[in-house]
Amino acid sequence: MSLRLAALPKAKVPPPGEHYDVVIVGAGPAGLSAALYASRFLLKSVVVSEDVGGQLNLTNEVDDYPGLLRIAASELVARFRDHAEKLFGVPIYTNITVQKFERIGDEFYITGTRGLSIYSKTIILAVGARRRKLGVPGEKEFTGRGVSYCSICDAPLYKGKEAVAVVGGGDAAMEGAILLSGYVKKVYLIHRRDQFRAKPYYVEEAKRKPNIEFVLNSVVKEIRGDKVVRSVVVESKDGTVRELAVDGVFIEIGFEPPKDWYQSLGLETDEQGYIKTDEWMRTNIPGVFAAGDAISMWKGFRQIINAAASGAIAAYSAYTYLTQKGLIRRA
Ligand code: NAP
Repeated sequence: MSLRLAALPKAKVPPPGEHYDVVIVGAGPAGLSAALYASRFLLKSVVVSEDVGGQLNLTNEVDDYPGLLRIAASELVARFRDHAEKLFGVPIYTNITVQKFERIGDEFYITGTRGLSIYSKTIILAVGARRRKLGVPGEKEFTGRGVSYCSICDAPLYKGKEAVAVVGGGDAAMEGAILLSGYVKKVYLIHRRDQFRAKPYYVEEAKRKPNIEFVLNSVVKEIRGDKVVRSVVVESKDGTVRELAVDGVFIEIGFEPPKDWYQSLGLETDEQGYIKTDEWMRTNIPGVFAAGDAISMWKGFRQIINAAASGAIAAYSAYTYLTQKGLIRRA
């Protein structure tokens, strides 16, 4: 079967003053799945986002998305995008930060950077989460000069270096340490506990690498250097302090939601700032739905498949909301 692909949009921002059935904020797996489904419900849809791919851009390979066996994360992003944009014709506008939405009658007025100024009857927030910071001396100062928040992105820059540190005990830290062990002579995996959140598969693989040293029950106190990072100061639970000579520090300690802007708009969140939804991805504001890593539900199991599923559900709920309110106008 051959597929006829729709033409790509040329404009870089949605036309000012345009009206939509649904505006999807964010273009990770949740946002792009929402776009695909919204289009299938024949809703006039648009995606506005800072980037395309979200946290998939921080992963190397994906081998747990059903049906795709093993796929490069960048390829999966391209496929998600093509599915929503080329096959179903939903325009995707990037490099835009949505800053505000307010209700005006049956619609929301949505504004953001680069002059974003559009109206929509519903909104799906698929805004993901941002990297958590350690908050220790030297971290900010050396960001981009040896401090990195993305092992997958920056590992090749350290090829042939003596040593790096990876901080964290989740999948990202473990995956990063394994990857980095192929580029540098020594990797210190620094974790504040001796139990890991990472999948056992990753932990076992990291333990098999002879050049990964686990520095457990330990926290980073300071990152030191001159023009670039030279060392990291680590304190263990028994009070022992060590200064490890490293060329880089990869901070992989998870994510937090971009809560500041949406909390100020009256969205209900949990204590960590993740958006509260019911099982239909409805938020406390009628007409506003949320999906993906920014939602409180499934917080302990953030997976691509869950993000995609919640995006699909949010689109269905937007459609149901519009239908029940009699807000869909068909030509
Ligand atoms: P995560 O699972 O939340 O793990 C964060 C780790 O950082 C935890 O071990 C945590 O320690 C530690 N941590 C948090 N705050 C800290 C602090 N202030 N100081 C020191 N350590 C701190 O985050 P993630 O590894 O980035 O993964 C996020 C999500 O993406 C997860 O759902 C993960 O499964 C998924 N992911 C999947 C893959 C994959 O399957 N290939 C790859 C990457 C990410 P504690 O354990 O003590 O809390």
